[in-house]
Amino acid sequence: MTIDGLTTPPPLGNVAVCVKCHCLTATPVAVRHIESTSGPGTTLWACPEHAASVAPGPMPGELVWPRQ
Ligand SMILES: [Zn+2]
Repeated sequence: MTIDGLTTPPPLGNVAVCVKCHCLTATPVAVRHIESTSGPGTTLWACPEHAASVAPGPMPGELVWPRQ
């Protein structure tokens, strides 16, 4: 390991913007998925602090009936 490995911040990989506080979080929690007729849809994320206070919505596959 070099000194850069200790002093350089980790690369932004799995980050998302929290729907409540609008801050970037490196540990996003999926709280809702919005289907789109013209694309793959959008997943809304929350930071761990706000994930419990955001009303959860359906995620892909949760509205499919009967369940498989
Ligand atoms: Zn938040």
